[in-house]
Amino acid sequence: MTCERCHGLMVSEQICDLQETNSDPCTNGYRCLLCGNVVDTTILANRRRSSESVEPRTASSPRLPRLVAA
Ligand SMILES: [Zn+2]
Repeated sequence: MTCERCHGLMVSEQICDLQETNSDPCTNGYRCLLCGNVVDTTILANRRRSSESVEPRTASSPRLPRLVAA
């Protein structure tokens, strides 16, 4: 498994999304050791189901607060 952003090594990791209320907030995913990009298996499954990328969750890092330049 390599990172789609930097092609670095990704490691399997348990990812917990505290905003997920519908189901188990923890899922298996992968995290890039180099850039910190996180991909969970739900996203991968959704991508396989639909070619249209509606939810670009991997574009941002969910673990860091987003800094908005005012
Ligand atoms: Zn990366």
